Amino acid sequence: MAIVTAGFMSLTMSMMQPVAPIDALASDVQLIGANFAAAYNRCGARPSFLPNLKVETHPALISYEPSDRTVRVSRYSELPPELQGLMTGWAEAAGMEDSQTLFVDVFNSLLVPHELGHWAQHVSGRLAGLDRWESELEANRIAIAFWRIHETTGGALPARIDAFTGFLGRLPNPVPDGQDPRAFFNDNYETLDSMQYGWFQGALMQEAWTNPENVSFCELVQPEAVVP
Ligand SMILES: [Zn+2]
Repeated sequence: MAIVTAGFMSLTMSMMQPVAPIDALASDVQLIGANFAAAYNRCGARPSFLPNLKVETHPALISYEPSDRTVRVSRYSELPPELQGLMTGWAEAAGMEDSQTLFVDVFNSLLVPHELGHWAQHVSGRLAGLDRWESELEANRIAIAFWRIHETTGGALPARIDAFTGFLGRLPNPVPDGQDPRAFFNDNYETLDSMQYGWFQGALMQEAWTNPENVSFCELVQPEAVVP
């Protein structure tokens, strides 16, 4: 009997070859995407298209690209040394020993529903009508509303927000004296460097966090809006 079992086991193993390596990052991101889609569907929505989720390391670290409807997340081990160095400084400022843990928590987790928020703006036909400031602020509100539903899988939200905004809030404020931050962000969006952009993302997350406006996830993603 033992021999038969062993034979069956080895047959099963050989039938499963070749086994693709399990990509923990890809499956973690897919799980967030599936949870986001489930939350969206519970709003009574049937989106006309779904987002793609890809692990593809790029300078923006995490993004949503409307032209191919794709959220792209970056892998820490593939970051250039200067970006890993930036993460080390960030982790130290956040009181964390491990910069990879911080990166995974922020850029492979916390901000995934932010990018899916841009997809929600896109699929509801509202993306083109929002200015950059509104679009980013609302994407943060969507991320926060999503994590309030899924806080147990994402970890305690206040600490994660703190780790994100604490460091970015200490970057130099790029808004010239007397200028309106929203107008400056909208007018200079394409030419902001990563430190300046980081300061705005921190400020816009802080604004979404401290002034939540009591809107629900479903009100934020507006699935009933007309798709063009
Ligand atoms: Zn964004």
